Amino acid sequence: MAVLPIRKFPDPVLKEKTLPVKNIDEEIHKLIKNMADTMYAAPGVGLAANQIGVLKRVTVVDVDEDLMAFINPEITWYSEEVEDSEEGCLSVSPEIQMVVTRSVKIRFKAQNERGETVEFETDGLLARALQHEVDHLSGIIILDRTSPEERRRALKELASKTPLI
Ligand code: ZN
Repeated sequence: MAVLPIRKFPDPVLKEKTLPVKNIDEEIHKLIKNMADTMYAAPGVGLAANQIGVLKRVTVVDVDEDLMAFINPEITWYSEEVEDSEEGCLSVSPEIQMVVTRSVKIRFKAQNERGETVEFETDGLLARALQHEVDHLSGIIILDRTSPEERRRALKELASKTPLI
């Protein structure tokens, strides 16, 4: 088990675009294991590889006591119907939530740990979590997705929690 430090805003790695994975080998399996351990220890419901400083297109998600690992994930369709909901991010602060507008439904495509292509349509918390993680892998965090007012409020709250030393 390896719980790795989670990179926090404003770490520049969170703004980096991750690179596609060509070979799903032992190294990727180990990365997935460490990402899952780190996500559960936080605890959180999703983690993208660049949140632990690895620039690979890999994410783990568990919204319903079912660990899912996705390699080279992409969202191939977003519903026009959107909804506002509060969202948190382990790279901002587990205690700070902000309103993010997301598509209600998505169509998602990725490879699993065995290299098989998986494709499905989903909604609810899983759709929101996958949009959040795919954003991470493209260098986008919730502070970039929320309104300017929410961003200001969150940054102020964040500053009050960070000791100035
Ligand atoms: Zn996040």
